[in-house]
Amino acid sequence: MGAKILLIEDEEKLARFVELELNYEGYQVTKAFDGRQGLELVETGDFDLVLLDIMLPELSGMEVLRRIRRRSSIPVIMLTARDSVEDKVAGLDLGADDYLTKPFAIEELLARIRTALRKKSILAEPSVLSASRVRLDVARRIVTVDDVPVELTKREFDLLHCLLKNKGIVMSRDALMDHVWDYDFCGESNTVDVYIRFLRSKIDEAFNIKLIHTVRGVGYVIKDE
Ligand code: CA
Repeated sequence: MGAKILLIEDEEKLARFVELELNYEGYQVTKAFDGRQGLELVETGDFDLVLLDIMLPELSGMEVLRRIRRRSSIPVIMLTARDSVEDKVAGLDLGADDYLTKPFAIEELLARIRTALRKKSILAEPSVLSASRVRLDVARRIVTVDDVPVELTKREFDLLHCLLKNKGIVMSRDALMDHVWDYDFCGESNTVDVYIRFLRSKIDEAFNIKLIHTVRGVGYVIKDE
């Protein structure tokens, strides 16, 4: 499924054109025609990127950007009719990721979108996750406790990765099953518990840490000690 893009642009013809082009590239597009509606959608929706016109009715694009940045680091590409250095600097100062002057070639917009999304996906996943004395290097697939390497199987690693990524959030057995095992996996219902036991013996018990907590009737959670 393509990335979800929110397009905040009051020129309906331009918005429609951009929407069609983005749809053609596989993106899902939601349109807003003024700043206030756009901001509401950012706050309630689940978008991967915002295309934000500067000259908007209700709330200006700059004001929308300022309010988005109070609570979200979603990539924002500003669109403007004016090729003004002040606008560009102001937008970037407020935390816009990129800036495009109208009229723009659609290929250029697509390239900027790809760049912004790529940057987001790199930033989204930190390369090292940690809790208490445990460190998990995502790319190198190495787990250490106090710098001592811990040998884990692929499943054990994936399960620990999933729990660490959601540190502080209680993960149900079903959620862990979905994330770590394939959807069509038809294992025993206690598979997750079995692997939690493996992890505990290799980490909690071996290093005397209370890493993986059981939440009775719900699932498991990793908390910092
Ligand atoms: Ca406008």
